[in-house]
Amino acid sequence: MSKSLQAIRGMNDILPEQTPLWRYFEGTVARLLDNYGYKQIRMPIVEFTELFKRSIGEVTDIVEKEMYTFEDRNGDSLTLRPEGTAACVRAVLEHGLTGAGQPQKLWYIGPMFRHERPQKGRYRQFHQIGLEVFNIDGPDIDAELIVLTWRLWGLLGIRDAVKLELNSLGTSESRGRYKVALVEYLSAHLDKLDEDSQRRLKTNPLRVLDTKNADTQAVLVNAPKMADYLDDESRIHFEGLKARLDAAGIPFVINTKLVRGLDYYSKTVFEWVTDKLGAQGTVCAGGRYDGLVEQMGGKPTTGVGFAMGIERLILLLETLEQVPEEISRQVDVYLCAFGEAAELAALALSEKVRDQLPNLRLQVNAGAGSFKSQFKKADKSGALYALILGDDELAQQVIGFKPLRGQGEQQNIAFDALAAHLATCVVQG
Ligand code: ATP
Ligand code: MG
Repeated sequence: MSKSLQAIRGMNDILPEQTPLWRYFEGTVARLLDNYGYKQIRMPIVEFTELFKRSIGEVTDIVEKEMYTFEDRNGDSLTLRPEGTAACVRAVLEHGLTGAGQPQKLWYIGPMFRHERPQKGRYRQFHQIGLEVFNIDGPDIDAELIVLTWRLWGLLGIRDAVKLELNSLGTSESRGRYKVALVEYLSAHLDKLDEDSQRRLKTNPLRVLDTKNADTQAVLVNAPKMADYLDDESRIHFEGLKARLDAAGIPFVINTKLVRGLDYYSKTVFEWVTDKLGAQGTVCAGGRYDGLVEQMGGKPTTGVGFAMGIERLILLLETLEQVPEEISRQVDVYLCAFGEAAELAALALSEKVRDQLPNLRLQVNAGAGSFKSQFKKADKSGALYALILGDDELAQQVIGFKPLRGQGEQQNIAFDALAAHLATCVVQG
């Protein structure tokens, strides 16, 4: 017997009952980003593998073990994008969007792919909304990115459940000096480090700060702190950011162990974390990456950005019961028609109504059926009102109007007056 067809582990269908919440979330973010002057960019989902190796860094979890990489029919090595920044920078360079130092404030949305162990809040296909800003160097834009996420948490009703963690990784020079000091300290405690950290000490020492291992964490308590190695430029930038967050009234904590998984960050790094989702607590993360564009073959161009994980934020909305009730109702009015003549009239009438009320969510019964069965469907649709058209109504050129949720009496409305009547009782979205 053949195995039944299934989706790939860690790659989820988003079912019709879930999509209203996704669309509410995505719509809220899109409106907010319009308001702050960010422009949407759409990149392909597949890129040359080389792009990710060069930008994300060879010794990162993503490139070492999480990428979906395959050879296409031409023999090229391609990879399903594990994140959006690399492709965004590639597109910006390819189309000269940052030529002559031109600033750009961009955002994107879409699926990302990482071969991780699937669990709550961690999937192999997941979705991000990301922002990337180019050619604006100052802490003002770092602050704007954080301020707008803070506003978003407010709009979504989840502000109380998230906390901002902040750190500065300095310029590459100050980070270089810090790395030397960190490696020296950790090498002196090599026997107490877990295996992964011993390996990272050689390949990517800053990542040791990120460890979840308790013994290694104990060693890190007395390790040198990045904050003591910041040069003036990074320190002034960081102070500027903190002053702006204070001015905007946004609480934050400094987490000196925050380094982020990807190689390309410099100066500001931040994460919004929640304790409501278990181990997968980071809902939004990002930072400054002033060296990345040049590293990818462009002219020196500063950059700063972040990405939020849509699944985790949706989970958080559900956990905190911040799903607005009205989003699940997708039908305002359900039209039932009985018999061929009534069906024809119903079609003409409903199209006329749609002309006049373009935002009305009007569902016309399809597939005929008895009075009882159509009425059941009308009720199940969640509609506020049913319209009823049979031979008797048709003869009088009226349609039955029946409130389904208890407001008001059933009455007959003349065909000509229907749109005007609906306009008074259905709030137009
Ligand atoms: P984590 O430490 O949880 O693995 P990360 O540092 O790998 O996260 P980023 O690459 O910074 O994550 O991606 C930004 C955001 O995208 C994360 O904060 C998270 O909300 C979300 N995200 C990352 N990986 C996944 C995944 N496998 N499944 C669902 N969401 C994810
Ligand atoms: Mg990860």
